[in-house]
Amino acid sequence: MAGEKGFTLWFTGLSGAGKTTISRVLEGHLRERGSKLEILDGDIVRENLSKGLGFSKEDRDTNIRRIAFVADLLSRNGVPVITAAISPYAEIRNEARELMGDRFVEVYVEASVDTCADRDVKGLYAKAFSGEIKEFTGVSDPYEAPENPEFVCHTECETPEESAEKLLAYLEERGFVPAKEAAAA
Ligand code: ADP
Repeated sequence: MAGEKGFTLWFTGLSGAGKTTISRVLEGHLRERGSKLEILDGDIVRENLSKGLGFSKEDRDTNIRRIAFVADLLSRNGVPVITAAISPYAEIRNEARELMGDRFVEVYVEASVDTCADRDVKGLYAKAFSGEIKEFTGVSDPYEAPENPEFVCHTECETPEESAEKLLAYLEERGFVPAKEAAAA
């Protein structure tokens, strides 16, 4: 898409809140419109760019700073980015915001610890509650919810498809993504 604007949708939320799920649905919509897009998914970044890092505050901060660094490089060159990492600390998210300025869109993927534990897609909450996994965000490690995110996905009362469609409409409104008619023209 010529002249596409770069932006970074910075998803933040607990493990199992729906960051990966919603990002994949949104990816489908954006690609249908011819958008270039990169997803920096926390789980995948930890296997590559941040391989070897653990879950101490220092390592979590390093992980998030690396994600922000790459998201900035891409988005400033016109490539839309979705980051899907827990990013539990407000201070580091704000660093990313400062780095990217107007290109940064914070998206709170909202679900309570109880909801995520009920979903427990990866079986991690059971292990966190039993103490088998230490330093688990929302259970035995902090999660600082955003105070003024640009967008909230209310995953307890809307489907991933609804969240993705609302986000797409928001991106159109902001002028980051051309409206459907314009994209087809
Ligand atoms: P995260 O990337 O935040 O760790 P995932 O996307 O991997 O979370 O997992 C979220 C799980 O919750 C998926 O199994 C998804 O199907 C489920 N889920 C149920 N309702 C929703 C919803 N409204 N939005 C997003 N995910 C949902």
